[in-house]
Amino acid sequence: MSNVRRRFLNRNEHKPSTRAQEEVALPAGQRTFRRRWLTAPIFKWAQRALPGMSETERVAIEAGDVWWDAALFSGVPDWRQLLAIPPAQLSDEERAFLDGPVEQLCRMIDDWQVRFELFDLPEAAWSFIKENRFFGMIIPKEYGGLGFSATAHSEVIRKLSSHSLTAAVTVMVPNSLGPGELIRHFGTPAQKQYYLPRLADGREIPCFGLTSPEAGSDAAAMIDRGVVCWGEYRRERVVGIMLNWSKRYITLCPVATLIGLAFELHDPDRLLGAEQDIGITVALVPTDAQGVTTGRRHYPAHQVFQNGPTQGKDVFLPLDQIIGGKAQAGQGWKMLMTALAAGRGISLPSLSAAGSALAARTSGAYARIREQFNVPVAKFEGVEEPLARIAGTAYLVDAARRLTCAGLDQGHRPAVIAAIMKAHATERMRQAVNDAMDIHGGKVVMDGPLNYLGDLYRAIPVSITVEGANILTRNLMIFGQGAIRCHPHLLAELQALADPDREKALEDFDKAFWAHVLGSFKTVGRAFWRSWTCGHLAPHPGVGVADRHYRQLSRYASVLAFLSDVSLLTLGGALKRKEMLSARLGDILSELYLLSAVLKRFEDEGRVEADGVLVDYCMATGLKTIEISIDGIIANFPSRPIAWLLRAVVPRHAKRHSGPADALILRCAKLITEPSETRARLTSGLYLEEARGGGILVERAFRLVHETEPVRDRLHQAGIRDWHAARASGLLTAAEAAALQEAEDAVHQAILVDDFAPEELKPRRDREEHKSSQPTQGDLQADQSI
Ligand SMILES: Cc1cc2nc3c(=O)[nH]c(=O)nc-3n(C[C@H](O)[C@H](O)[C@H](O)COP(=O)(O)OP(=O)(O)OC[C@H]3O[C@@H](n4cnc5c(N)ncnc54)[C@H](O)[C@@H]3O)c2cc1C
Repeated sequence: MSNVRRRFLNRNEHKPSTRAQEEVALPAGQRTFRRRWLTAPIFKWAQRALPGMSETERVAIEAGDVWWDAALFSGVPDWRQLLAIPPAQLSDEERAFLDGPVEQLCRMIDDWQVRFELFDLPEAAWSFIKENRFFGMIIPKEYGGLGFSATAHSEVIRKLSSHSLTAAVTVMVPNSLGPGELIRHFGTPAQKQYYLPRLADGREIPCFGLTSPEAGSDAAAMIDRGVVCWGEYRRERVVGIMLNWSKRYITLCPVATLIGLAFELHDPDRLLGAEQDIGITVALVPTDAQGVTTGRRHYPAHQVFQNGPTQGKDVFLPLDQIIGGKAQAGQGWKMLMTALAAGRGISLPSLSAAGSALAARTSGAYARIREQFNVPVAKFEGVEEPLARIAGTAYLVDAARRLTCAGLDQGHRPAVIAAIMKAHATERMRQAVNDAMDIHGGKVVMDGPLNYLGDLYRAIPVSITVEGANILTRNLMIFGQGAIRCHPHLLAELQALADPDREKALEDFDKAFWAHVLGSFKTVGRAFWRSWTCGHLAPHPGVGVADRHYRQLSRYASVLAFLSDVSLLTLGGALKRKEMLSARLGDILSELYLLSAVLKRFEDEGRVEADGVLVDYCMATGLKTIEISIDGIIANFPSRPIAWLLRAVVPRHAKRHSGPADALILRCAKLITEPSETRARLTSGLYLEEARGGGILVERAFRLVHETEPVRDRLHQAGIRDWHAARASGLLTAAEAAALQEAEDAVHQAILVDDFAPEELKPRRDREEHKSSQPTQGDLQADQSI
């Protein structure tokens, strides 16, 4: 029996779903017979066939908990349970912080100056961030932090992201995975008392050092080492850790005062106990400790948030610098996975929600004011298609962000949902920003203070890579973790297989396995019935107009449960290597989560009729993706006879969803190319007053063009193209002409891009030389005085 399997016994809370309670009731004699003659051989086979896993995978799977993801995975989601989740809410204090310090911070930042002149936030902004405890949003009030909800934390990141990514990332990191979160959950009372107040008010700037040159996605493969030994610390001889490391890509590291450092701990002299290889450990390393090097900077995709490498050479620290003290030595991986289960669901999804909403707001406005061939480009179908995609994405990503925050605020730590959010929110933002770039054309290709999208575009690869690179997250984690974590029986089976007490193991396995078999029969029946009836009779919550959408999600949840069962049963451990298959199963789970968030948002916002267009668009797009994934799974299933069986249960003729119809696309695009409550709702909570660079100019032009539309329509109907001529012939009042002139001027301002004097685009050194050769005010005065 491997250690890994044994440790499954110690796993904490897996909340069984109703399906997990199912048990095949048999008289005692028959049960003994079944256990001996049927279960025992299957038990032996399963020990060989079920997915083996490494220690790091086991910890990742056990991190966090399951929530709505498990309901979807069971194949029988209870929609009333979803609708009963209280919507994400802000307290008065949190709202005041958003309207006060967050707005003020945005106003303090000239993002162009930050990115191209200062290469950092201005000093005043750093001070303001610290004074107003932006770094302590997740630190409880009793330690001097703001003690904000996940929703408030997310809203702050979202608003900052809409104005300055540098500010957003700077604030995001200490509130996500890092010393603050780790000390809060795992620190000793002394660590909490000392560090949390200092982190909250910015006396300490934290960073988190996990990634090293050798260990990227497979962070657990790090070679950074700590060795337990005697040494001298503050003139005392103590048992401590001698550390050596080389980390890279570490955000805030160049300015950090405290590194949360992950390393492999060894105890060759057994000073801590029997184990020599203790495992991954996280310690708090002051950057002024002897032997620590920080300060150099990376330059990630032209982003200027602080990021850089760090090295440590023979850095000696006492054992109480381990987060959680000696007792937590070797528990580092578990700590990290637990902390990621929350942070990953907030940081980048909030940034992505801001990016998608900003793309929607600016693209809709720009497409409306920009005319080519005497027609607003928003009226060309070729442009309406990406506009609709952006609008749908903005609605969906924000809906999913809100649902996830609502779950986190209820105390859940849904690791699978956090992975879904990280990968899908950033991927969808990538699509939305790409679309926005295409719609704007040269306007946002030209860099300068007037460009409000270029920086977001450049930053996309950062969000795709950090907190779990997307390919890995999609292919390996979402279904890989989800299948074991969310499956109603699989974890119980694995626990039983890991039990060293053979009698008890067989007893538990017998229960779990036959419940699984019974559940599987029901799953097959459900998937068959709902597929052959195209979901028309599938369960729904009875909320009226959206019920047809719930039916489709019920239908595909049952298909996912069926496909997962068959894949796990027939492929066992091999499924882990079939990443394309696993990714498609994960895509179905992800779509089900994102689409249920869309329906929840629609309900929470009072089923606004106009928003129904966005709901229909998201559903049409998502259901098409689900069907493509199902087709992909069946077409590529390694065993053809099993594939035929799958096809018999999920027939091809039941495929119904070919994406949004053209008419729906046009209606969806219109929602963001005209002022409307839907447009305002889609982009509420962004920082728009002095929106990035030229954004405010586009917004103003958009308003004026809309206000003068009736006059232009009148002229158009009269066959008049030039309003100046109409004014001359008395067809326009003076006020109407003035309004048209104002709108025309505003459009002209809005479509302008920056240009630069040649010396401004010379290498910086030359520019400085050029500047120093220019006479200064002082020189001029001196000249005059001569
Ligand atoms: C700007 C920036 C800031 C960062 N900040 C921090 C920080 O503060 N602290 C910190 O510790 N780290 C940080 N990181 C590291 C980051 O979180 C990633 O973990 C790391 O970048 C991934 O390693 P890699 O870039 O070397 O990619 P690699 O691990 O080399 O991966 C290359 C590609 O292979 C894919 N891949 C790898 N394994 C698999 C698999 N099994 N299946 C499918 N695909 C796979 C990946 O998805 C990726 O697409 C940061 C990175 C960046 C770029």
